[in-house]
Amino acid sequence: MSNLTILRTYAQKADPSSLSPSILFTHSDQFLTIFDAYPKAIFHFLVLPRTASTVSGYITSTRSSSASDAALTMADFSNLRSLLKHPRAKEVLDDFKREAEEVKEKIVEEMMGRYGFKWDLWIGFHAVPSMEHIHLHIISSDLCAPSLKNKKHYNSFHPKEGFFLHLDEVLDLFEGGSSTTTKLPLSPSQYEAILKRPLACFKCHSEMKNMPTLKKHLQEEWEKQKEREKCLRVEKNATGDKRKRDTDELEMRDGAGDNSKHSRKEE
Ligand code: AMP
Repeated sequence: MSNLTILRTYAQKADPSSLSPSILFTHSDQFLTIFDAYPKAIFHFLVLPRTASTVSGYITSTRSSSASDAALTMADFSNLRSLLKHPRAKEVLDDFKREAEEVKEKIVEEMMGRYGFKWDLWIGFHAVPSMEHIHLHIISSDLCAPSLKNKKHYNSFHPKEGFFLHLDEVLDLFEGGSSTTTKLPLSPSQYEAILKRPLACFKCHSEMKNMPTLKKHLQEEWEKQKEREKCLRVEKNATGDKRKRDTDELEMRDGAGDNSKHSRKEE
């Protein structure tokens, strides 16, 4: 059983670098990003706004805001719903977006180093979170991991079912001016119903009869993707090699042409 307030404890750390490297991925003045302790995909991280009173986190932030200078309290950072009620919600979400883009670059570096290619990362919030303190998931679009064990886990990260609220879609709620909370379409109980929906592959949409079948299918999809990327790399290298051979050949021919001109002159 996980400790439901542990994320808040991390967020309050005055010095996140004191956290173990097995917990902390990276941090900035406003955020820290940790490894999800039960990853539901090959890459899975949580971005948390920092709230220590001794750092330049939001609670003590003195910078002026275009929306409002209203103070943010710990309660505002409980979850997305509480944040959306605050006049500075958009500012915090824009900062989340900037931070996520930076973290994403680091993850892509890891992907390239480990696998030689990159694949999509989904960035969003759970509509009904289980842990205290607002946290943004950054999760790779494979959903292949031992900790993905049940329908609830799977449907909560399915990119189209609606429980996983993509950050860009949350930011879209601010378009048009009316209250963001009224624009979140479903009540928590309706969101929870999404978790009970039938299992469907997020790639090919086929319905799966149970979790073992779905997990096997996702693994096969992932293996196919790796194979495709490998073929693409081989093709790219072959094209690169051929282009180089052609250039070398042209240069040699030009060189030979020049030489024959010289030799004719010499004759
Ligand atoms: P949510 O459903 O959005 O509240 O997600 C909470 C996330 O926190 C899940 O993905 C869990 O795997 C993850 N989690 C649970 N306990 C810990 C922990 N101690 N450290 C890091 N991540 C955790």
